[in-house]
Amino acid sequence: MKIAILSRNKKLYSTRRLVEACKLRGHEVRVIDTLRCYMNITSEQPELHYRGETLQDYDAVIPRIGASITFYGTAVVRQFEMMGVFPVNESVAISRARDKLRSLQLLSRDGVGMPKTGYAHSPDDVQDLIQMVGGAPLVIKLLEGTQGIGVVLAETRKAAESVIEAFMGLNANILVQEFIKEAGGADIRCFVVGGRVVAAMMRQAPEGEFRSNLHRGGTATLVKLTPKERATAVKAARVMGLNVAGVDILRSERGPLVMEVNSSPGLEGIEMATGKDVAGMIIEFIEKNARPHRTKTRGKG
Ligand code: ADP
Ligand code: MG
Repeated sequence: MKIAILSRNKKLYSTRRLVEACKLRGHEVRVIDTLRCYMNITSEQPELHYRGETLQDYDAVIPRIGASITFYGTAVVRQFEMMGVFPVNESVAISRARDKLRSLQLLSRDGVGMPKTGYAHSPDDVQDLIQMVGGAPLVIKLLEGTQGIGVVLAETRKAAESVIEAFMGLNANILVQEFIKEAGGADIRCFVVGGRVVAAMMRQAPEGEFRSNLHRGGTATLVKLTPKERATAVKAARVMGLNVAGVDILRSERGPLVMEVNSSPGLEGIEMATGKDVAGMIIEFIEKNARPHRTKTRGKG
């Protein structure tokens, strides 16, 4: 097969591993810098150009779209879809996952467990908003933050009020969330490929920190999932419409709670922690599912 990897950097671990896995399995592969693609949007024959040539005859595309280029990145994936190329994750699903509020609304509609979450633009009553999610301590998040940046723990009601008002003064979109204390600064990353959890790790925040992101100094270890956790991760990926997803779960007293669903989950942490060939499993998924014009949402958005 001929496979395109949309990535801004060939040297990133995830990109390198996907290239390697493609080659090992006998596929032709090319890394394409997302922002360097340009397109011809016509009703007859949608085209994608790259470095002066037309991209042609690709069977599948693996989008690795960084948060900062979601808008253009999803447009490039959509163009591939219009050309009939099978996307590992569809553009619409990537857009959904990038917006934490939209994701949580979809997950709650389908009954997936999540921390109590409130969202507001400019409420007259910040106290009521705080009360709505159970009072302090609580977590305040920027809607489009990533890698733990823009996630704040407010320990007291007063602190919560000040932080919320400060963010609102900056016109930032935020959500407020019940703080799951019993998770103890740990969360579980479930790596889902094609409706199955293929690998999972527990990430533990360093001493004095509640955010377990590896980018914030968290450490990863192997974890055994309960059947409920496994089912929750699979359901969350399905609801989001993602074939490949990193579902982040908090272990709470009332069971697994989904915090977020990532559409371009990194491979380094999970492969190192589990010793599994996750890249190979993604390529295997493509081999089993890629057919021309198989994008589910074709024509809708
Ligand atoms: P990001 O997209 O920046 O990674 P997350 O929502 O995943 O933002 O939050 C970052 C980290 O903060 C999580 O991995 C988790 O360890 C911690 N965290 C986030 N929300 C909560 C919460 N409601 N209760 C407890 N810990 C949380
Ligand atoms: Mg996260």
